[in-house]
Amino acid sequence: MAMYLTPATGPKSAAAASPPLFSGLRATTTQTFFQPHTRPLSNRPSRAIVAMAGSGKFFVGGNWKCNGTKDSIKQLVSDLNSATLEPDVDVVVGPPFVYIDQVKNSLTDRIEIAAQNSWIGKGGAFTGEISAEQLKDIGCKWVILGHSERRHVLKENDEFIGKKAAYALSLGLGVIACIGELLEEREAGKTFEVCFNQLKAYADAVPSWDNIVIAYEPVWAIGTGKVASPEQAQEVHVAVRDWLAKNVSAEVASKTRIIYGGSVNAGNSADLAKKEDIDGFLVGGASLKGSDFATIINSVTAKKVAA
Ligand code: PEP
Repeated sequence: MAMYLTPATGPKSAAAASPPLFSGLRATTTQTFFQPHTRPLSNRPSRAIVAMAGSGKFFVGGNWKCNGTKDSIKQLVSDLNSATLEPDVDVVVGPPFVYIDQVKNSLTDRIEIAAQNSWIGKGGAFTGEISAEQLKDIGCKWVILGHSERRHVLKENDEFIGKKAAYALSLGLGVIACIGELLEEREAGKTFEVCFNQLKAYADAVPSWDNIVIAYEPVWAIGTGKVASPEQAQEVHVAVRDWLAKNVSAEVASKTRIIYGGSVNAGNSADLAKKEDIDGFLVGGASLKGSDFATIINSVTAKKVAA
């Protein structure tokens, strides 16, 4: 977000000078096991306002999952339409497929629509699936892919998800590309390995990162009420940005929004937002309450701290 960071080259030069040694996170000793991955502010260009390491606009998505009825969604849309939202945030909501049309026809244009999944290729004889072409046709701008519930309940693997992302992008949809480790993977010190493998599957499949927002969602934090601490989230976000710098390009690392998801709510979003590599949120449960979701969106103001 250019207004918060001038110029947008800080993280790369610091990363190149002193590459962090990632070895994975361990639940009980996270902070002592690792080198401090957050690059010191003294290595960054001076700025009048803090704090975003990336240059992308703050982004908040609401994942409504398999929740809602015509009536409850009517109320939620009405609450969102009357909420006061900070202007410098991209806002997206992901209703269940069957309500997308209702939401599209009643929600303010200020908020864009995401689907929660899309088929891997062109539509046809694929019972129960929804194609990216259909999503475009109905006015969706985004699709959430690689969500942990798709990975772990529906058993979608990295390669399949990468291909879905590539196909959705090829039709002009933006992709909210989820990654994240299971609790046992974190406890085994494999957080970075898992996240980097998931990132690689996207990188191997997609021709460009222009329309991708990465959502880091530790599985142990999703729907559990156990939010990652701002430091835990920041540490992985820095690692993801460094991975992009080393494996894609410095420009992509700087431009790509890396948002956090996992039990974000109206009470914890501001502290998370203060971390400079947290470029927004993907929100499940709390996105079903209009006023809470608005508070989370408006937590962008926590980044606007006078230097
Ligand atoms: C999600 O499903 O993407 C999510 C982050 O859920 P929750 O906010 O409910 O943990």
